[in-house]
Amino acid sequence: MSKKAIEWRDCPICGGKMIWEGEEWESYFLCTECGYSPNFEGCETLEQAVEWWNKRPLEDQLRARIAHLEQNIEKAKEILEEDMGEWLPVEPLYMPDHVRAMKHAWNALSEEVSKVGEK
Ligand SMILES: [Zn+2]
Repeated sequence: MSKKAIEWRDCPICGGKMIWEGEEWESYFLCTECGYSPNFEGCETLEQAVEWWNKRPLEDQLRARIAHLEQNIEKAKEILEEDMGEWLPVEPLYMPDHVRAMKHAWNALSEEVSKVGEK
């Protein structure tokens, strides 16, 4: 396995890029942001180390869950937009109460999406 072919995931602590220098076991692996350096004890080959490093079932589950929830948020916004129809660009002050309630829900969903996207 050449260095180029290896795909290491980012640091699990801070999301920083990991660097790997040197030859196989005379090497160090270090986060460029926070300095985290994992211990590959128990891994006998570089392939095992890569597999161990990249295996993150909880993170993968959470990412999939977040993507699913973001899709649901977008669907809910589309439904609200459809129901608000021509009221959508109108100032909330002039909206009928039920439309204003939908606009509040739409705003809340929009804030949630922008929070998730921030880093
Ligand atoms: Zn880090």
